[in-house]
Amino acid sequence: MPDNGRELLLHGLRDMYDAEHRFAEALGTMADQASDRMLADGFRRHREVTRGQIRRLEQCFMAMGERPQREQCAGAEGLVSEYERFVRKQQPDRKTLDVFAADAALKVEHYEIAAYAGMIDLALRLDVDGCARFLQDNLKEEEAAAAELEMSARRLGAELTGSSAGLRGAVETFRVGSRSGGIGAVGRAVREQATGAIERLEKRGRRVQARSSRSKPARRASRKTTSRRSTTSSASGSTSGRRSTGRARSTATRRPASPTRRPATRAKRATTTRRRTTRSATVRRGTRNRARSAR
Ligand code: FE
Ligand code: ZN
Ligand code: FE
Repeated sequence: MPDNGRELLLHGLRDMYDAEHRFAEALGTMADQASDRMLADGFRRHREVTRGQIRRLEQCFMAMGERPQREQCAGAEGLVSEYERFVRKQQPDRKTLDVFAADAALKVEHYEIAAYAGMIDLALRLDVDGCARFLQDNLKEEEAAAAELEMSARRLGAELTGSSAGLRGAVETFRVGSRSGGIGAVGRAVREQATGAIERLEKRGRRVQARSSRSKPARRASRKTTSRRSTTSSASGSTSGRRSTGRARSTATRRPASPTRRPATRAKRATTTRRRTTRSATVRRGTRNRARSAR
């Protein structure tokens, strides 16, 4: 039977067409049930991505001259009901549920990755390249989602067990991310974890500073330097702030106001400058702002 491959690919398409519908729905439920905001946001983002995947599968059907059709996907059904049953029967606390949900979603991604990889191979062998391309786009998205979910699962697992997610988590994130190739997702997750680690360090730093008697004047001084510097680099014409500190002078030297700049760049920089001046003025006194709005 020469059409075996084609029939198998069509079965795969109908299967995944059904699966993606189920997952899109489940992701909405999971987003609502998740306590961790970043996890919930990730679920919602992937639900949107999944809707796009459904459209691509429809284009796949059309590339093969077929009408889009769902065929009950027992695999997807099982994965979704595994999640639902756990929530219903175990009634986990919020943190436990988050870890379980991240892991459950990760299982879904790996299921999809395996399915799409097999279908892409078939499509290429059958010379339905148009179809293969859509499937490859879906596969890339599933891989990125898997990378992101794996990192979320590690972070939440660390939180649940009370072990440190900080820098070790960030290193783990790079390792997992480079393996799965979800660069955008890696960036996002690294930022998440780095932000968490920085917040913890800052909190610790504030506690230490509170204990030290010299902390307050030192902090105020550093803040003053920052605002003065931004004024200097923006006020290209005036020299008022320029002799204030050595640091400010070096900033001004590095970025001289040149008349040979391209107009577009100059316009953009002018906008930035205006904004920056306003902000630093606010920091300094706030009087100029008030005068401007009064006019
Ligand atoms: Fe999907
Ligand atoms: Zn099936
Ligand atoms: Fe997916």
